[in-house]
Amino acid sequence: MRAVLLQGKMDAQLVEVPEPELVAGSVIVEIDRSGIGGSDVEAFVSGELPAPAWFGHEWVGRIVEVGAGLPDRFVGEPVIGAVPAPCGECRPCQAGLGSHCVVVLEMIVGADPLASTHGAFAERIRVDARRIQRLPEGIDINDAALSEPAAVAIHAIERSGVGIGDLVVVIGAGTIGLLVVELARIAGAARVAAIDPEAARRELVCDLGADAAFAPGGEIDGWLERTGHGLGADIVFDCSGSEGALAAAITQVRRGGSVIAVGVPSRTRDSLTSKLVEREVTIRASLGYSIADVRRVLTLMAEDRLHVSRIYQDDLIGLSEVPGVIHHMAQHGRAAGKLLVAP
Ligand SMILES: [Zn+2]
Repeated sequence: MRAVLLQGKMDAQLVEVPEPELVAGSVIVEIDRSGIGGSDVEAFVSGELPAPAWFGHEWVGRIVEVGAGLPDRFVGEPVIGAVPAPCGECRPCQAGLGSHCVVVLEMIVGADPLASTHGAFAERIRVDARRIQRLPEGIDINDAALSEPAAVAIHAIERSGVGIGDLVVVIGAGTIGLLVVELARIAGAARVAAIDPEAARRELVCDLGADAAFAPGGEIDGWLERTGHGLGADIVFDCSGSEGALAAAITQVRRGGSVIAVGVPSRTRDSLTSKLVEREVTIRASLGYSIADVRRVLTLMAEDRLHVSRIYQDDLIGLSEVPGVIHHMAQHGRAAGKLLVAP
């Protein structure tokens, strides 16, 4: 049968490959549609070969054969490729962190032992039965081919906590960015703007519900100033993964707002952003303190629950000693424990 395989940098070829081999617990799916995602193009451009099953991972098709242990009635069912339920056995699962299941993550990146030998730019593929999701009635087959990127976008919306009345900025109006704009509206965002270098994408994102779209490089600043009351956006999604996008996002978000990193192209896989995204780590900044914090501290001290007496030195210094002590600290490093001055 025929399949398009990535062979190297800027090199994808239609080749004749053996029919996929059925193994226990898997099914053979005849592909009806497979979407070309940004990550596929990235892999093509960079030449960094992804795991085989990963090139062409957005697909919809019909089960044509079932492996041992699976019921025959599955044959003929329309299905999409999805992620399995958490395995229940890996370390995160056993710690109750099923949403961070190692097996699920391996399957997402196409690196698990049961992964197909190639992706879905092919006539047929073998899929682990745990990964298939049956299509409900009434879904257009072309629409269904977008269910994987739509699920990525919904996950980002969930993670962001976007809600009623929020001002949202979406960097990158590729498939994921467009879906994030639509879903941010569904979630109740009052104002949504997008940033993308391509004019055609800016037009499309406005058709899909963005109030405005801008080219990168500060073009959005005036709109943000007016619409965000000079504060900035409540939530900024970086769906581009491009160099500098995260830094731009941090300048566009208001104080106390949230930045959600969604898109990460393969060539930046070693970057800090990629590590953040892969591990779904939340970084929260903390600056200074509030009056409430001061009152909490004083209460804890008064109740003798916060003990600070060993953090300062008992020997107090006089005012006249201050210049000399500071000079000494500058040259020889600071003493262990805070020095207190008694004027
Ligand atoms: Zn697990």
